[in-house]
Amino acid sequence: MRLNEDPHRRLNPLNNEWVLVSPHRATRPWQGEVAKLQTTAEPTYDPNCYLCPGNARAGGIRNPAYETTFVFQNDFAALKPDTAKGHLDIEAAGLLIAEAEPGICRVICFSPRHDLTLATMSAEETEVVVHTWMEQFRELSSLDSIHHVQIFENRGAMMGASNPHPHCQIWATASLPGEPAKELAAQQAYFQSHRRCLLCDYVGLEQRQQARVVCQNEGFVALVPFWAVWPFEILVCTRRHVGSMNEFTPQDAKSLSLMLHRVTSTYDRVFGVPFPYSMGFHQSPTDGNDHPEWHFHAHFYPPLLRSATIRKFMVGFEMLGSPQRDITPEVVAEKLRNLAAE
Ligand SMILES: [Zn+2]
Ligand SMILES: [Zn+2]
Ligand SMILES: [Zn+2]
Repeated sequence: MRLNEDPHRRLNPLNNEWVLVSPHRATRPWQGEVAKLQTTAEPTYDPNCYLCPGNARAGGIRNPAYETTFVFQNDFAALKPDTAKGHLDIEAAGLLIAEAEPGICRVICFSPRHDLTLATMSAEETEVVVHTWMEQFRELSSLDSIHHVQIFENRGAMMGASNPHPHCQIWATASLPGEPAKELAAQQAYFQSHRRCLLCDYVGLEQRQQARVVCQNEGFVALVPFWAVWPFEILVCTRRHVGSMNEFTPQDAKSLSLMLHRVTSTYDRVFGVPFPYSMGFHQSPTDGNDHPEWHFHAHFYPPLLRSATIRKFMVGFEMLGSPQRDITPEVVAEKLRNLAAE
């Protein structure tokens, strides 16, 4: 079987799902979306931005004149901490099931500057962001009612980001959401059968193979996973076995900030535009149990396919069957590796 020529499917061992890879299709003609890209530079301060320092948010609360990072409860929170416990099974048929979901939603502004991004902030500024994430994760993971803490960033209008001001969100929930639940099951099964960590073994394998590694530093490795669904998808893993930010050393925080800067600035060089993405950390469940199987990692899911305006759509077979890609992870990794070295 030729991975770079023949249609095949690849297994994602982190969630046990398959992706269809069609390398021969990478050259097919394109007659789809050719939207114009908006490239106006953002101002350093926007009087109409609800995240800029000193401005009023929805409901009239005014932001302080913050100078580094700024954390607040989401004014339009999808979850509320005081939601009462509840379980519903209508007609006891096991078909109409609902559960109450208490939780906490927060917003973290990375910088008072409206125009910056993780790619354009200084290393020192990004390190402050990482320390803010660590503080937030420590606080939320210690709450009895919170069993999972999801930190994520949506960047760019294409990913539905409502505001260009550099910020991320935290959704901390009473239950383990779907994606981490699948990854927990896979990592637990691997740990039980091998007595080793799935991602420690995977990172070691990729470091030997090199074909999909984009870049690495003292603490982290960035690679295009063998099973990547999105064209320019990247997985960032700690090089040593760490379950969550609660185990980070100050050096880990520095290494992560440098890695995030490197990955995001590499992305911005792919098409010469600010690269949209959804990014988030997958950390051990905070359910009070030990999780020796869980390995800290971050997923970057960027939507762009072949230009600054042409995105990948998950439609047709992908909605009904399984995800599919044309350009192989190996070809993308080589392109990103070259850009990362610039
Ligand atoms: Zn702003
Ligand atoms: Zn590990
Ligand atoms: Zn994950």
